[in-house]
Amino acid sequence: MEKGFFFQDKKVPLIGPQGIFKPAILPTNPYLPLSINTSPNSPYDDKDLYGGVIAYKYRGEDQNHYQNVGLREAMKRKTPLIYFRGLAEGYYSASWPVFIVADNPKELTFMAKVDKEEFSFVSENASTKKTEDLRRSYATYEAHRRVHQGVFRTRVLIAYKQHCAICYLGHPPLLDAAHILPDTHPNGHPTVDNGISLCRIHHAAYDTKIIGIRPDYHVEVNEAVLMEKDGPMLKHGLQEFHESKLILPRSKSDWPKEENLEERYQQFKAG
Ligand SMILES: [Zn+2]
Repeated sequence: MEKGFFFQDKKVPLIGPQGIFKPAILPTNPYLPLSINTSPNSPYDDKDLYGGVIAYKYRGEDQNHYQNVGLREAMKRKTPLIYFRGLAEGYYSASWPVFIVADNPKELTFMAKVDKEEFSFVSENASTKKTEDLRRSYATYEAHRRVHQGVFRTRVLIAYKQHCAICYLGHPPLLDAAHILPDTHPNGHPTVDNGISLCRIHHAAYDTKIIGIRPDYHVEVNEAVLMEKDGPMLKHGLQEFHESKLILPRSKSDWPKEENLEERYQQFKAG
């Protein structure tokens, strides 16, 4: 996140050492921040209040510190921000868009709202068509994604008779419809032949390349993991499935597409 990305040949980090962060590329006058963050060992005690509202402490005690003025400006302009919450050393959760919705100088605190409904708040006050378009495409994307994910999961789980294709665990609350190619991939369609019903452990193991699935429907466990010695979960839950065959749906049209498996398997082999 410190490395950020490049925009117009300029490096734009997403996060800074301080709580309220503005990359050099954004204006200084007025100072408009890009993100706010709390470190896991922050002296500031940011609180989750209700409905995605956070009480975010001022920088220092001077309400006219330029960074506090910047957040106030972001509130006036309804500028979307990113909120990074430190969970542990080096781990953050990210929420966006986040809007500053209130200023409480008595308690040296801003209120920031992290939930997506804030976009409707923006839209009521939207002065430009662009904001409205952005809100709409975002809302549409979200709704789309949720509906599709639900349908995809249901179809995949039904095809596999609600069992993990690797270990045959049959508890639906512990089952996922894993994508073979992600939905961001041009061929990552939310269709049964791009999915596999996997239990949570095997889904996570597949996504983190601890296991791979060959186009001949066999499971491979990462070599290093195969050599490890640990408790029963590693032994029985992972290592013993090395070279085992997937338990596939009855109807062949529901089987994972070989070319999708192949592409994904190459990523596993590449490590
Ligand atoms: Zn499983």
